[in-house]
Amino acid sequence: MLQIRDIHKEYKTGSLVQKALDGVSLNLRDNEFVAILGPSGSGKTTLLNIIGGLDRYDSGDLIINGVSTKRYRDRDWDSYRNHTIGFVFQSYNLIPHQTVLSNVELALTISGISKRERKQKALEALEKVGLREQAHKKPNQMSGGQMQRVAIARALVNDPKILLADEPTGALDTETSVQVMDLLKEVAKDRLVVMVTHNPELAEEYATRIVRVKDGRITGDSDPFEPEANPDAAAPVHKNLGKASMSFLTALALSFNNLWTKKTRTVLVAFAGSIGIIGIALILSMSNGVNTYIDRIEAQTLSQYPLSIERSSISFISMMMVSTDTWEPAAEGEITEVPSVGQLLSTVQTNDLISLKNYFDSDATNIYELTNGVEYSYGIDPQIFYYEKGTGKYRQVNPNNDFASMGLSSGNVFSSAYSMNVFFEMPENESLYIDQYDIKAGRWPENSQEAVLVLSVNGAVTDYIIYAFGLRDPAELDKMVRDFSNGLEVVTDQEYYTWHYEDFMGTTFKVVPAYEFYKYDDKNKVYVDMRNDNDYMKDLMGKSQDLKIVGIVQPKAGEDIYMLNSGIYYGKNLVEELRESAENADIVKAQLADREVNVLTGERFDEEEPDFDMSKLFSIDEDKIQDAFKFDEDKLTIDEEAFGDMSGIDLSGALGSVMPLQMSHTARHSSHSIFSTSGRVSSISVSFSAHSSIFSQSRPEDA
Ligand code: ADP
Ligand code: MG
Repeated sequence: MLQIRDIHKEYKTGSLVQKALDGVSLNLRDNEFVAILGPSGSGKTTLLNIIGGLDRYDSGDLIINGVSTKRYRDRDWDSYRNHTIGFVFQSYNLIPHQTVLSNVELALTISGISKRERKQKALEALEKVGLREQAHKKPNQMSGGQMQRVAIARALVNDPKILLADEPTGALDTETSVQVMDLLKEVAKDRLVVMVTHNPELAEEYATRIVRVKDGRITGDSDPFEPEANPDAAAPVHKNLGKASMSFLTALALSFNNLWTKKTRTVLVAFAGSIGIIGIALILSMSNGVNTYIDRIEAQTLSQYPLSIERSSISFISMMMVSTDTWEPAAEGEITEVPSVGQLLSTVQTNDLISLKNYFDSDATNIYELTNGVEYSYGIDPQIFYYEKGTGKYRQVNPNNDFASMGLSSGNVFSSAYSMNVFFEMPENESLYIDQYDIKAGRWPENSQEAVLVLSVNGAVTDYIIYAFGLRDPAELDKMVRDFSNGLEVVTDQEYYTWHYEDFMGTTFKVVPAYEFYKYDDKNKVYVDMRNDNDYMKDLMGKSQDLKIVGIVQPKAGEDIYMLNSGIYYGKNLVEELRESAENADIVKAQLADREVNVLTGERFDEEEPDFDMSKLFSIDEDKIQDAFKFDEDKLTIDEEAFGDMSGIDLSGALGSVMPLQMSHTARHSSHSIFSTSGRVSSISVSFSAHSSIFSQSRPEDA
């Protein structure tokens, strides 16, 4: 029995507050078929998500079998969602390249049962929806109605007490809708089914009870239910989850498996790559006996990292001087104030790159002959989209914002390491890298509409690239990220697949010039961001340029150094074209014509908040950082071998106080110790708590 008591829910976006539920009370029987009817925007989905534990209420209470959820913790919600609830969505959310059977099985994987049992249960669930015979088909070989029945089988496979369906027939024609409704009616015989719909005829015909919702309130109920009061509805109880929910780290480790287990390098190489050899040498010079180490790092980094000159730079040497420890001890009863902000910011320098380029291009130097190559980059990150056949939507795959909700937004030093972009620009001079690779399929790109997939040296790509290609259901990823940012435990399916060249070859993405996202609004005299307008975006995609995968390459075996890490690479000419077309765009011209006023807001720039984007100051090689860390089942461990002999090196002081590496997470998991070696480093921990340093150091015990 579910009791919803005076639930309120608001969504706040910026200064806008949207009331989604405004005092909803509703009691649901253990066994009935409830249809929730109401116009679009009335709060139906919100209500369903709150009932299912996918979303939290602001006030009120959801009472499950007499137990209040007011004091539910994430674990309790997890347990409830995993064991009591089955979800069916309008858009099926099936994984296109998986068979029907494995789509259903996947929902069971997390429960830790044997493969045979899993298959048997999945087949039983498919039997219930009349699709046992189709178990080996792929979703894209099925009709919409069949796909929805697979989704229902998937929701039923754990035998949940409550099935929630959000507009399950919303994408179906009348005839197939009827089949799905018949099935739901059958399912409702021995459980509670709550279905959201805006089709009154279907609701009337199939549901046993109709609840009407408008403007976040209940306006009608055909069969209200008043259970007897339960006096001891107090403390939440939760079932033991068994293996159902993995620890967050296990899940993260599994889902991003490939990312963390590439060729192992040291974390110091990662730092050397990101802050330059000077910085790392300084850190290491604080300890003794590391000369050979430095030599190795020098050799590795300098050969693999080009010398790069950024527009802004910061002196790490001065950064290290900002330490309160170097000041005279304060007199008893006094506290010394040490300048740090000003000192830090005063070291930020701006390089005049235009003059530098002019100089390079002039006769005054022969830099082009002295070096292997000089590349100029303009900071243009193409807007790339992937068309999802399943939902008919375009999903942005570059730049990638999947992780923005984790609090890893820009302006954060480490955001670049976690941006997880998979698209990269190829260096202009192909002779620098072309010999380092074998062509596995197709050919290298020849124009701006072509791209190449670069595999790792072992012929692998990360699952993240698989998501970008739409080969895995992005809903999986969305859910992981959502759960993660809600502080829930991340659950993954644990299955990793083998793919074939054909799965990637010929895949076509869409590239949209960024200025096309904005439309001029005559009334307000500003350019409006249209990215949330589906029709506008669809239309835009229709006329946008293709980016097609024409080849797959892999580093040649035995090659020690290769320039392109695994990813999707487009040519420099794409960036060039985007840059040129932007010059002629109205919005760009308008902005250039009046540099004082922001064409997006109509406000003067100096009235706006200044942005200080730390990430511009650093460039961090993602792969190097990721290489350095390797996840273990229940604790983060650093590959000790990769670290070499760390005894005698006191990094705790160096890394802890000198590198203010911010990694803000919204997740509430704190301080997972990453390694602990003998000697003076008692532990360095990677902290996942909000706004703490990645290398927050714990107190050395045996220093
Ligand atoms: P329905 O499913 O009945 O169409 P929803 O429950 O999706 O309605 O939405 C109810 C109201 O809450 C709408 O005004 C919607 O715009 C708003 N809303 C829903 N989800 C969000 C969200 N994540 N952020 C902001 N507003 C939201
Ligand atoms: Mg809805």
